[in-house]
Amino acid sequence: MTLTEKDNQYVANTYRRFPVEIVSGKGSLVYDSRGRRYIDLGTGIAVNTFGVADEAWQQAVIRQAGMVQHMSNLYYTEPCAELARMLCERTGMKKVFFGNSGAEANECAIKVARKYAAEHLGPAYSTIVTLRNSFHGRTLTTLAATGQDHFHELFQPLTPGFVHVSAGDAEELRAVFAREKVAGVLIECVQGEGGVIPLDPAYAKAVEEIAHENGALLMVDEVQTGNGRTGSLYAYMHYGLSPDVVTTAKGLAGGLPLGAALMSEKVQHVLGYGDHGSTFGGNPISCAAAVSVLSRIDEAVLAGVRERSAFIRERLTGAPGIRSVTGLGLMLGIETEKPAGEVVAACMEKGVLCLTAKTKVRLLPALNIPQDLLAEAMGVLREACAG
Ligand SMILES: *Cc1c(COP(=O)(O)O)cnc(C)c1O
Repeated sequence: MTLTEKDNQYVANTYRRFPVEIVSGKGSLVYDSRGRRYIDLGTGIAVNTFGVADEAWQQAVIRQAGMVQHMSNLYYTEPCAELARMLCERTGMKKVFFGNSGAEANECAIKVARKYAAEHLGPAYSTIVTLRNSFHGRTLTTLAATGQDHFHELFQPLTPGFVHVSAGDAEELRAVFAREKVAGVLIECVQGEGGVIPLDPAYAKAVEEIAHENGALLMVDEVQTGNGRTGSLYAYMHYGLSPDVVTTAKGLAGGLPLGAALMSEKVQHVLGYGDHGSTFGGNPISCAAAVSVLSRIDEAVLAGVRERSAFIRERLTGAPGIRSVTGLGLMLGIETEKPAGEVVAACMEKGVLCLTAKTKVRLLPALNIPQDLLAEAMGVLREACAG
């Protein structure tokens, strides 16, 4: 049995995989079972922050695996505490809850908002407002938060208490606050799965004002936008927002499962003993990996993200077959004349891995992708869009 046959027979059919068997890689290059080389512009959907099998990341993981891989949250372990300290120092947030995924981080944020509202506004204040076209995860609660009906259809009933509004329409949000008892608003600064669409900065500010005027929390989902991806440590920093809860995951541990909900001073004491938990949350290896990743995301790396972003935009904007380039930093969406799936398939044929988001081609390369590989990949992508 080939790998492809075995996978198709035994792994649940939830993913339409490309016909590529990935074996190994180094940095922004990956290799398949036929020995073919690919330039990776997807990084496992914004996960491999510094690429595949990065040396410093690998050392951090190996070192921790040789000490203790897991001990449960009944005991103190250094990587978990150190990572929480680093996240707080760099964001001004006060407490961190660790889980294993973006969905789990968002579940935590929603629990914080509901408990805070119950205590400060009244037990009826439980509604969570999110945006249409958003994506917040695949659990039944984060699916309810996700503002895309096609994800909901087969899985009713979802967790109740979610209302969706259109991004950009502050009046609609005000109307929801007038009508519903709202605990919090959850937004992505750049809608990732929704098509790499940045929020209008004035609207983002209005969301914060409306939430805070009403005693509700502002929660920012930085699962995809976080950890340097957009050219600042977190995208809310570009927008000058002061969120009460920030969630992140994907790139945080550079390729290992880790999610985090960061809580501001106002909500730092909302969760108490027994209110929440996660067996693997704060796992020492994941946290050691994240300490390594986060300690490298300095001003020079962020400037490198912005430079690479400018280079990609310069190469793609106005090129034949390309209608527009949207996004922030190294989270970019390309509207192409050809169907995005065709462009991605053509790029794969030529040794470049890209993603799609809705009708767009989506690029999420490593923050440190070498300039020569990026230039080569842009040549392939231009050709695929034009041809
Ligand atoms: C990927 C993603 C999630 C879900 O993360 P998982 O780790 O798959 O649970 C949630 N929110 C956003 C914005 C995402 O991009």
